Amino acid sequence: MAHLEEEIFSLAREAGVDAVGICSATPFGSIEKMRFKTWLEGGNNAGMSWFERESDKRFIPAALLEGAKSAIVFRINFFRKGGDPRIALYAQSEDYHEVLKRKITKAISPLEEAGGKQRICVDTSPIAEKLLAFRAGLGWIGRNTLIITKQNGPWSFLGVVLTTLELEHCGYGLENGSCGKCRKCIDSCPTGALGDSGLDARKCISYLSIEKRRDRLSPDELSQIGNRLFGCDECLRACPFGKTAPNTKAEEFLTTIILPKDATFESLKNISDGTPISRAFRFTKRRKGNPKA
Ligand code: SF4
Ligand code: SF4
Repeated sequence: MAHLEEEIFSLAREAGVDAVGICSATPFGSIEKMRFKTWLEGGNNAGMSWFERESDKRFIPAALLEGAKSAIVFRINFFRKGGDPRIALYAQSEDYHEVLKRKITKAISPLEEAGGKQRICVDTSPIAEKLLAFRAGLGWIGRNTLIITKQNGPWSFLGVVLTTLELEHCGYGLENGSCGKCRKCIDSCPTGALGDSGLDARKCISYLSIEKRRDRLSPDELSQIGNRLFGCDECLRACPFGKTAPNTKAEEFLTTIILPKDATFESLKNISDGTPISRAFRFTKRRKGNPKA
């Protein structure tokens, strides 16, 4: 392994990153594009327009960073026991967008010194990050549409760095596998949102409880959300590979939230500062100001 890659891995380990894989940033083929197009045409994005915007760019890393040659994919386990089951676990701690960006920025500092141009993408750019994670050898894409690893099942945050440098394809914490005949996530989904052709966001409680305006939810949708306050973890908790997940090593993700029994979605506002939940409130405010959204 070359010196530069070793340096990145050592800095990533120091920053508490569980796995890093480096792969080529060449475009994905027509099969991946076609699958995504079919998914969009079926209305499975539930009108979330950012999936449609620049949808081709998603499969061409160089469209996000001119001259991109390599992609470095970072994976952090965010599982910990406990927490309020009415709130998706990923949302019960410091905002992972910020935490990952901080950790990744530290880890890639040698790239700039080596003359590379970089772009960090943590769930905010149109990039096929799960496909890149699979290409980089970090795990496989499970039937619940998430990256799955044998170490901690579906409980991973991902971040991608595109770089103009040609790096060796290598990594640490790499693994491969498959779901085999398991369908536990599909069977566990309370609304039938998961199927053989992927996720139908229109039926997904995460979409309904986070993305859809509360005043536009139908009585059926409200009853499906039930007492959930933010998101849904059923298809993650069902995954057998996640049953023995260790607690996260990243102290930023160790916190959990417990709310009183009578808490409502609105009451999350008071405790959401610095968590991913606050993004949802900002988003809702924007959408309310724009009747077309
Ligand atoms: S998050 Fe919940 S509703 Fe959405 S696919 Fe998973 S189990 Fe189904
Ligand atoms: S529950 Fe089973 S089918 Fe679903 S992602 Fe996990 S291993 Fe794959």
